[in-house]
Amino acid sequence: MSINAYGAHAGDRPLEPLQITRRAPGAHDVQIDIAFCGICHSDLHQVRGEWQGTQFPCVPGHEIVGRVAAVGAHVRDFALGDLVGVGCIVDSCKHCADCDDGLENYCAGMIGTYNFPTPDAPGWTLGGYSQQIVVHERYVLRIRHPEAQLAAVAPLLCAGITTYSPLRHWHAGPGKKVGVVGIGGLGHMGIKLAHAMGAHVVAFTTSESKREAARELGADDVVISRNAEELAAHARSFDLILNTVAAPHDLDALLALLKRDGSMVLVGAPATPHPSPNVFNLIMQRRTLAGSMIGGIPETQEMLDFCAAHGIVADIELVRAEQINAAYERMLKGEVKYRFVIDNATLGA
Ligand code: NAP
Ligand code: ZN
Repeated sequence: MSINAYGAHAGDRPLEPLQITRRAPGAHDVQIDIAFCGICHSDLHQVRGEWQGTQFPCVPGHEIVGRVAAVGAHVRDFALGDLVGVGCIVDSCKHCADCDDGLENYCAGMIGTYNFPTPDAPGWTLGGYSQQIVVHERYVLRIRHPEAQLAAVAPLLCAGITTYSPLRHWHAGPGKKVGVVGIGGLGHMGIKLAHAMGAHVVAFTTSESKREAARELGADDVVISRNAEELAAHARSFDLILNTVAAPHDLDALLALLKRDGSMVLVGAPATPHPSPNVFNLIMQRRTLAGSMIGGIPETQEMLDFCAAHGIVADIELVRAEQINAAYERMLKGEVKYRFVIDNATLGA
């Protein structure tokens, strides 16, 4: 089956219309008509070759929502027309300890939604900037939000789970002071989710224009992270800091804000390393510097259901396919509140 997609032929070339093929659904596969796909900063890192090993042509996109168009003979949990989502994972080994624990995201054989090896043409996975996708049923998520919210649900499939998982793992909740650094696609979801979990939330931003906006998302306080005085007011007070920043920056200034036994979790994945933190900033207060990658499939479903129950969706700006390159530039300038989502109907008939 040949379908329309949007992707790039090289890291220094813009994205453009492409034709790609999808496999016919196997016994355990779900074929999905993609309605919307979010634009994650990871898409930009990957398609521009900022991370190692991008295969071209590259079709990004791992914040996928749409409707079931066909199911394989053994699929029991999904039926034609169901509202579903696909996030960053389309396969894994299915038998290791990580898969058994529902942490497919940490399986050594995890297959990402784009740029991972597959028997399907062209030999690596192609993502959601496309009209359809075919995915093993294990990696398909059920969407319980009203259909009118579908476009704004798309970013939950990556930005939502990438912030939900560490917030849960490090016990964000009532009585906990949680910082969220970088108020972009991930960060704005981190604020909404930490607020809904009952934590006291402080947003850290480099953008003065987001000071009031972050409060509307649920932040109890907002700090301009380049202002040393504002930072100092929060010294040694945080249980958890979730750092979503997509560029290298000074981690010490943030580590100093953790209380004894506090943790800073890095989810931002800049193309070049952060300056090394001062080890004494960890030793002196028994602090932890950690990382976290998306989340497993059961936790992604839990996150979607939590968001449906709490009326949480992303704040989005819908774009047409031909606006993707311009959207990338605006994302780099922090000029989106807070996630671009592609209307996949604009990929053409
Ligand atoms: P985004 O929408 O571009 O947001 C990143 C935010 O970081 C910006 O809005 C900006 O917030 C802040 N920022 C950017 N440059 C900065 C700089 N030089 N110094 C300080 N702050 C800066 O990106 P995103 O989609 O949320 O993704 C964020 C990062 O997470 C990316 O590196 C992405 O690849 C990574 N990611 C990781 C995972 C994972 O599993 N760990 C999953 C998805 C994405 P302010 O304007 O508020 O300062
Ligand atoms: Zn992503």
